[in-house]
Amino acid sequence: MERTLMIIKPDAVRDGHIGDILQRVEKEGFQIRAMRMLRLEQSEAEDFYGVHREKPFFESLVKYMISGKIIVAALFRENAVEYWRKVIGNTNPEKSEEGTIRKLFGKSIESNAVHGSDSLTNGQKETDFFFEPFEYLT
Ligand code: UDP
Ligand code: MG
Repeated sequence: MERTLMIIKPDAVRDGHIGDILQRVEKEGFQIRAMRMLRLEQSEAEDFYGVHREKPFFESLVKYMISGKIIVAALFRENAVEYWRKVIGNTNPEKSEEGTIRKLFGKSIESNAVHGSDSLTNGQKETDFFFEPFEYLT
């Protein structure tokens, strides 16, 4: 089955939205096969968002992602990557459709509550950034 990486980002953890987001994850038919709460080191955040290293928002993004604890989870479902991107909505909460997680809980294009992998390859790569394969076993 396909997998994607979800992150509940520091703002959503601080604001007390962990429960609401996890409830939505299950309601949308995902299996949470692995999950952990942690605080990223700066070097880890820089690695994870490495593709954005040259972007003007990179430094601020890394600062934000290490500003507090996050929840990382490997979500399994048919069509997991594309489906989760639909559930979370546009990167910019103002442009997200009603009912999407970023519309509900995001505060800005940076503090946008959740992460979702953007391709099949990245779904595998990003879940493996945080978890060992045996952790996906049911
Ligand atoms: N981001 C930002 N400013 C931007 C674009 C993105 O701060 O102009 C942040 C935001 O937190 C986003 C993350 O960088 O979720 C990764 O950007 P990407 O373009 O990959 O968006 P996503 O795939 O998360 O929708
Ligand atoms: Mg992305």
